Amino acid sequence: MNYTGAISSKLPNVGTTIFTVMSQLAAEHDAINLSQGFPDFPVSKELISLIHQNMKSGYNQYAPMQGYLGLREQLVNKAYELYGRVYDAETEVTITAGGTQAIYTAITALVKDGDEVIVFSPAYDCYVPAIELSGASPVFFELHAPDFKLDWNEVKKLINHRTKMIIINSPQNPSGTVWSEEDLKMLDNITHDTDILILSDEVYQHIIFDDQKHQSIARFPNLADRSFLVGSFGKTFHATGWKVGYAMGPSRMMKEFNKVHQFVTFAVNHPIQRALATFLENPDNYMHISEMYQKKRDLFVEALQGSRFKIKPAAGTYFQLLDYTNITEEKDTEFAKRLTIDYKIASIPVSVFYKNESPDKVLRFCFAKKDETLLKAAEILHKI
Ligand code: GLN
Repeated sequence: MNYTGAISSKLPNVGTTIFTVMSQLAAEHDAINLSQGFPDFPVSKELISLIHQNMKSGYNQYAPMQGYLGLREQLVNKAYELYGRVYDAETEVTITAGGTQAIYTAITALVKDGDEVIVFSPAYDCYVPAIELSGASPVFFELHAPDFKLDWNEVKKLINHRTKMIIINSPQNPSGTVWSEEDLKMLDNITHDTDILILSDEVYQHIIFDDQKHQSIARFPNLADRSFLVGSFGKTFHATGWKVGYAMGPSRMMKEFNKVHQFVTFAVNHPIQRALATFLENPDNYMHISEMYQKKRDLFVEALQGSRFKIKPAAGTYFQLLDYTNITEEKDTEFAKRLTIDYKIASIPVSVFYKNESPDKVLRFCFAKKDETLLKAAEILHKI
């Protein structure tokens, strides 16, 4: 007989991520896939040929554990130019296998058994499992559609002696909202007399609309002194499949981060890191991404005028929420499934990003797609 001893799960309430579930359903039903966030248009030819050149030049062995120094230097320059913070390329930047690995590593390196971590819901789905694997408890602050408005006095009430970390995310996935300078000042205000650390997920920092300024944690010296800043090249250069991102932070925090990083992944794809370092030398390669996505947001929103969905245009990210209150009473998980199977259009139900069921009737649609894909999607959505 085969051995079938019971497995005691460390994550008993976790199933397969909604992104995989919905992308699979979209593929099975041949639906337009606006669920999982990934672009359907090509990566810069120049960037691809830089990778190729680096491979041909023989950079095919391990990169340094913290990442190729030339790339870390470019990130340091960029953070200084854009946000005015001086990071040390040697000790305060590490290149990771995507934003997700940076987030996992930051949490597991510093959050301990019995700690609490404040998370804003809807929360991107990789935060909570990393907190739970560290033996800590997530403490949720819920925000709701359509404004996802934040009351800092209420957030402050969640802080106690067990609060180890606060995770923030602006531009925010899945809501598409953006935090203001005032929000970051309030965050400073409620944390400055504490030892609380901050994890700032800024993977959509270059996708922000209507001339707003990205309020990076790096613009606020007191906050930056206690924060990990996480970024992603996949989001910025339409290359989510490369899985290259980074974490930056004060050396005392990054020292602990690297202790975990070296055993989670050791080092990240070397030729791609070298290519990215060269590509980042020209700010034109990332400073116009917002314009490109704003046009796509506007095209999608415009094409949906007259449909039964209610729309508040996204302020950042490449995700647009559509409110379906006027269409059906169904739960978003059911409605998203039905749209995929019956109408051949896949989206992400937003309630899965809350601990308990959310009363909001909203679905998330990714607009990082060719114009023709967006127009085809809008045509379908008009029929619903
Ligand atoms: N970040 C992507 C999204 O929000 C998904 C990434 C993933 O599939 N893990 O859609």
